[in-house]
Amino acid sequence: MTAALSDVETTVPEPADQVLSVRYAGRTVRRSDVLHDYAAYGEPDGDLEMDYNFYVVTGPDGITLFDTGYDVAARDWLGEIPGTTTPECLDLLGIDPRDVVRVVTSHFHYDHIGHLALFERAEVVAAREEYDYWSGKRARDGLAGEFATDADLDAVERARAEGRLTLLDGPTRVAPHLTVVPVGGHTPGESLLVVGTRERPLLLAADAAHFGIQVENDWPFFAFTDLDRMRRGLGRIHAVAHALGATVVPGHDGRTRHEHPAAPGPGGRVAVVLG
Ligand SMILES: [Zn+2]
Repeated sequence: MTAALSDVETTVPEPADQVLSVRYAGRTVRRSDVLHDYAAYGEPDGDLEMDYNFYVVTGPDGITLFDTGYDVAARDWLGEIPGTTTPECLDLLGIDPRDVVRVVTSHFHYDHIGHLALFERAEVVAAREEYDYWSGKRARDGLAGEFATDADLDAVERARAEGRLTLLDGPTRVAPHLTVVPVGGHTPGESLLVVGTRERPLLLAADAAHFGIQVENDWPFFAFTDLDRMRRGLGRIHAVAHALGATVVPGHDGRTRHEHPAAPGPGGRVAVVLG
């Protein structure tokens, strides 16, 4: 049973000019390692191609990023294999970080906001629950053993001090072509981004659904702050996608790269065109 959707979640956003998925790292994982209680499904084990991505949305108001990757070579957390760093990816795509008008963050884990400090002029958008959770944890216990870093949270604080941080209390249209939907579960403020295109809207699921098989089977990921909420998040992905006729793009699924055309020009080495 899924909560009723708000008006903003059932209104198709205006079309963006282009939406790119940009891959900065990858690794291969076992289903049984990354899916919660996988043995209970009675399905065979197998490999999953796990990509590490961020997204570039070009719209009428300029360039928005959804997440910013992280510097794998500087600190390898889980055996990620470095691909192309975020600054190098942006260079290949011809994007100056100072021209990015907005960074929407799915959540504050290391692999999602690792280069946030590069975007010194951008509005930073996050769910208020995400901000409150991590700033509270840092002040109380510190971040040892957590998937978040002081340096990254410092970049969030800098945005706040400079009046560039926007905290959301629920589903919000942050631009005519962009709707952010906080769902929680993986972390307290884990958020989806819905982007309008000239065809079907895209629902960028980030870590509310790392892999397509999670969406297809309602299988939660192994890492969560609230398992029930993560299950409801998968339900919300279905409900929002159904209401909008949207295509769901899981956050870490190698399939996405194989299913879409390479971006034109040198950016095609790292990016595919989602819409
Ligand atoms: Zn992630």
